[in-house]
Formats: sequence, structure tokens, C-alpha cells
Amino acid sequence: MNSQPSSPLALGEDGPVVVVGGGQVGSLMALFLARQGHRVSVYESRPDLRRVDIDAGRSINLALAARGIAALTDLGLFGDLANILVPMAGRMVHPDVPSGAKASAPELQPYGLDPDDVIYSVSRSDLNAILLDACEATGLVTVHFDRYCREVDFEAKTATFTDYDDALEPQEVSFGTLFGCDGADSNVRRAVLAANGGTSVEDELEHGYTELTIPAAPGGGFLMEPEALHVWPRNEFMLIALANPEGNFTVTLFMPKRGAVDSFESLDRPEAVMQFFERQFPDFVPLVPDVTEQFFANPVGDLATIRTEGWTVGGDAVLVGDAAHAIVPFHGQGMNLGMESCRLLDRLIRQHPDDRSLAFSKYEIDRKPDADAIADMALDNYVEMRSSVVDPEYLIRRELALELERRFPSKVAARYGMVMFTTMRYAEVRKRAQRQNAIFATLTDGVTELSQVDWELASELVSDLSPLPTPI
Ligand SMILES: Cc1cc2nc3c(=O)[nH]c(=O)nc-3n(C[C@H](O)[C@H](O)[C@H](O)COP(=O)(O)OP(=O)(O)OC[C@H]3O[C@@H](n4cnc5c(N)ncnc54)[C@H](O)[C@@H]3O)c2cc1C
Repeated sequence: MNSQPSSPLALGEDGPVVVVGGGQVGSLMALFLARQGHRVSVYESRPDLRRVDIDAGRSINLALAARGIAALTDLGLFGDLANILVPMAGRMVHPDVPSGAKASAPELQPYGLDPDDVIYSVSRSDLNAILLDACEATGLVTVHFDRYCREVDFEAKTATFTDYDDALEPQEVSFGTLFGCDGADSNVRRAVLAANGGTSVEDELEHGYTELTIPAAPGGGFLMEPEALHVWPRNEFMLIALANPEGNFTVTLFMPKRGAVDSFESLDRPEAVMQFFERQFPDFVPLVPDVTEQFFANPVGDLATIRTEGWTVGGDAVLVGDAAHAIVPFHGQGMNLGMESCRLLDRLIRQHPDDRSLAFSKYEIDRKPDADAIADMALDNYVEMRSSVVDPEYLIRRELALELERRFPSKVAARYGMVMFTTMRYAEVRKRAQRQNAIFATLTDGVTELSQVDWELASELVSDLSPLPTPI
């Protein structure tokens, strides 16, 4: 796919190392590169979020799991996050109730057998601020804010920046290597694909999302259990809530964008919004007295999977994070995937110190199957979260999976756990999960309770599975 037949070069040998995008992935990539001893210039289109509030109603917190943690630990940064993390030990499922009935108590579905199997709710901007501070602390990374990359010229090896509103005189910046970390709507990706003849396919979901906030309790503290990911599954749509250390919760409503009922389109008046929330989420409404005002104040965001082939232009450019592989958020993995990609790319550059072009091409070959696998699993997980978690067939299969994991810990692991609590390759997770699902389906056929499972058959079927890989 690379169009540049050039002689092998080390990073930084023929010009500056430039990172476009100073989000989670761009700042983390800059840190890995600085650890290798490179001077790095990061260009970020938005103002410095440590000085200006730029969240404005959009995805305020994220789930951080093993893959992101591994990258942060590698850089010695995970410990710095202690004050901005809230651990979550499972899903707190808020069941549907018949119209007019009282809401029943939510139920915790622990994520794993091990009490240490937790994921963390983390504020996107607090995390980004810590990463930017760490970048500046290296003395090797310079972050330029309000610099929006409009174009890249791979002949001249320059990138053109203005400010976001195009008010600034265009500024040409020379680069030896460009790291495109400018997110799902990446301009660097467009330039890279124009140069290498690659392709990018965007599958937009028919569902969108909006964010709301449950305030902290009067006088401080939380209005719900903080150490769980709350979910109100309602088949075609769902509400989720993640706690913030300040006591409030970030809530996200995912639902179809269009349609006569239960869609963003249909919720066009305050009375319709109020009726919808009272009917669907009766235990949520008392927690958020201004739900309708919030609903209309916040935008509806789009969700898409973007599959790209051609992440590199020889040793001149490479795409990392959402710019290379944007996925839907239902497995809480987009950022974790991006951080793990940075870690892999760092390793490959170090393994091929004199040939960055080789490192970049190995990176795409290695990473693309994993990015595609988690893209599919993230789509599957939407169905699991919004409907399966209350389906009796799913619940018995889940119980069985946990029991098999207990009995055969070297052979069986729930897919969710393999994605969230290990760094096993995503493609391997998907393959194992497919095999396991076939076994679970056989063993739960006609079964309503765990005591009815044929354990001899279980043992036989599980013996065909290969042992779980050791962590990488
Ligand atoms: C609702 C929602 C919930 C999510 N929840 C989770 C979760 O729980 N866990 C998880 O792991 N992931 C989650 N994700 C995914 C996660 O947000 C992304 O995968 C992650 O933020 C990608 O990081 P990034 O740095 O690649 O891109 P971004 O975070 O988009 O950062 C790109 C940066 O580049 C800048 N930029 C853009 N264009 C230019 C340009 N032309 N020039 C210069 N700078 C530019 C942007 O301002 C931005 O700072 C969620 C996503 C959504 C939408």
C-alpha cells in the first residue's frame, strides 16, 4: 500500500517529528516518542483544555481498562491518575417496569470472578490534562494549541495549519514524519489515503447519543452506587451512567436517531421528553429534575465505525487512534485500543530503529486485524448491553460461562473479560469467543438452571479449546 520507495531512515533523521492531534492518543504517542529521545511537536486544533472548558456537553468520561492501563503503566503514568479514577466492578442493571409500576431495585452483574477485575471511569479532560502535563514535563514535547491541520503535502513534506476558524494566516510546517492522531474525522487520514491509494469505509450507526448529568447529592456524595456502570437496557435503546470523583454521574442516552417513537427525532417537545423518561426510566427522573432542559441543551452525536486500509505513507506518515480505526463506544474500547496501538507502534519503532518505514508497515499488518475484530465486538456489545443483559437465555449462558471459567480457568474466559481485563489480541479474543459461544449454546440448550447442565459433556467440549495465552 505504501507509495514511497525510499531508503531506510530512522525517525527524526530527515526532519522534525510532528504529531497532529493532542487528544488521548496524540499526547500518549508523543510521550512514547519522547521516551525514545525524540523532539516532538504536537499540533492540536482546540485551545488548551487545561485553561479553557471545551467539553461542552460531549462525552465527558470514559471507561479505562487493561489495554489503556498497560500503555499508561509502561510510561510510568498510571499512578498519577489515582485521584481521577472511579473503579467499576460490574454492570448495575436497572430493569424495565410495567407502566405505572414502581421501579424495582437495580441488580449488580459483576464483570468477573476476580474482585480485581474492575474498569475505571475517568474524565476525558482530566486524563488529557495529565497527559499534556506529562508531555511538557519531558522537555522534549512542544504542544501548539489552536493549530488546525488543513492539508498535507507529501512531496514538499509540509503540513499547513490555520486556527480552527481559519482566521490565522496559514502556517507551513516541515516534517520528516507525521503521526496522524487527529481523531475520527482526520484530515491527515484524507491526505494519507490520497498519497497511498488506500480506502476508508465509514459505517454510520442509525443510533446516536446525547449526554446528561446526574448531579452530586446535596452536601456531597453520590445519588447512586458509584462503583458500577449503571445501565437501563430497553431493547432498542439504553441509558448508561458512569460516576465522576466529584459525586456526579455522566449519563449517555443511546437511541435511534429517526423514527416515530422512542427516537431522538420523536423527542421534539419538553412534554414528549418528560413522558419518555418517566415511562422508561422512572428511577432516573427524580435524580435529574432538569432532565428536559439538559436534553435540549446538549447535541445529539453520531456514532460510526471507520475501517481504513492504508495507514502509512512509507516512513513519512502513520495514522494512530481513531484516525486509523474509529469504533462505536459500546465496549468502552476506542481509547484503550488507541493507547494499545501507540504501545505497539513504539515497540516496533524501537525494534527497527534504522527503518521506520518497515516499523510502520509492520504496525498496520499487525494491528489492522485486531482493530477490525474489536470494531465488530463493539457493535455486538450494543445488542448485549441494551437487550441481552435482561434476556433469560443470555443470563443462563452468562452464569454457565462464569462457572466454566471457575472450573477450567486455563481454558475458558468470558469475552468481556478477555477484552477488558487482558491484553490478549482482539482477533484472538473474537476467535476464542466464537468457539466458546458454540459450546455455551450446546450446553444450555433446553436448560433453565445451572444444575441441569451436563458437566461431563462440558468437560469434553472444553478440553478441545486451546489453553488461554499468557498475557503479553
Ligand atoms: C460517547 C462516546 C463514549 C466513549 N466511551 C469510551 C470508553 O468508555 N472507553 C474508551 O476506551 N473509548 C471510548 N470512546 C472512544 C474514545 O473517545 C476515542 O476512541 C478516543 O477518544 C480516541 O482518541 P484519539 O486521540 O484518537 O481521538 P480524539 O480523542 O478525537 O482526539 C483527536 C484530537 O485531534 C484534534 N484534531 C482533530 N482534527 C485536527 C486537525 N485537523 N488538526 C489538529 N488537531 C486536530 C482534536 O481536537 C482532538 O483533540 C467513546 C466515544 C464516544 C463518542
